[in-house]
Amino acid sequence: MRAMNIILIQPYEWQGDCSAGTVSLHDHRHRHIRQVIQPASGDRLRVGLLNGPLGDARVLHCDARETRLEVNLHSTPPRPLPVTLLLALPRPKVLRRTLQSITALGVKEIYLLNSFRVEKSYWQTPFLQPEAVRETLLRGLEQARDTRLPQVHLRPRFKPFVEDELPALLQGKVGWTAHPVADAQPCPSAVPEPGVLAVGPEGGFIPYEVEQLAAAGLPAITLGPRILRVETALPALLARLYH
Ligand code: SAM
Repeated sequence: MRAMNIILIQPYEWQGDCSAGTVSLHDHRHRHIRQVIQPASGDRLRVGLLNGPLGDARVLHCDARETRLEVNLHSTPPRPLPVTLLLALPRPKVLRRTLQSITALGVKEIYLLNSFRVEKSYWQTPFLQPEAVRETLLRGLEQARDTRLPQVHLRPRFKPFVEDELPALLQGKVGWTAHPVADAQPCPSAVPEPGVLAVGPEGGFIPYEVEQLAAAGLPAITLGPRILRVETALPALLARLYH
């Protein structure tokens, strides 16, 4: 069952001025409202305009064909996490779960990065198609009652990314590479500046990659000796860095 804590309205569906209008839904959102919420006319639902404000909606009607809502947009979505994430491309199933949960946590800039221990075949997965990525991100937003869609960038070549692009991304930010080795610095907590965080693949970054990232301004940090799965390490790192 899809967790839909907010009904997201696409800008092209919006018939109204900047804060009030009506919308008709016919797709999975309509089915969710009709089958799961089962509202009576006049009931109120939480809504948000994609990349816009949050609000609430009154159900005008909900029948077999459509749900029609009278929408009022009035508040700002939750604050994004001030972090750019460089994530070594995980296996497809983990990719979907991870994209969804980091979206729910408020990450807005995600670079999916190659690394020596990323299997080549992962780059061919249909889950990396723009529509599939977008669908996954929308689920994360619906889960967290957020409206701002993250940007996902694919970087299938590690070295050119680190040498040519990373320095500009790091401007005005602090950088870290999550790497669970004994001589890494303990993960800092409650950091006041925006940051860039690199997280490794299932087998970890190889020493050459850790050196390259450190040379670019992302020294190794650790949460301690426990080796965590990416899905577990990410929320722990983000909560510690930016709680
Ligand atoms: N054997 C690999 C290693 O020792 O690096 C394990 C990789 S772990 C499954 C996948 C990624 O999660 C790591 O590359 C790192 O970015 C992050 N991670 C896992 N446990 C961590 C910890 N205790 N501290 C910091 N990062 C961690």
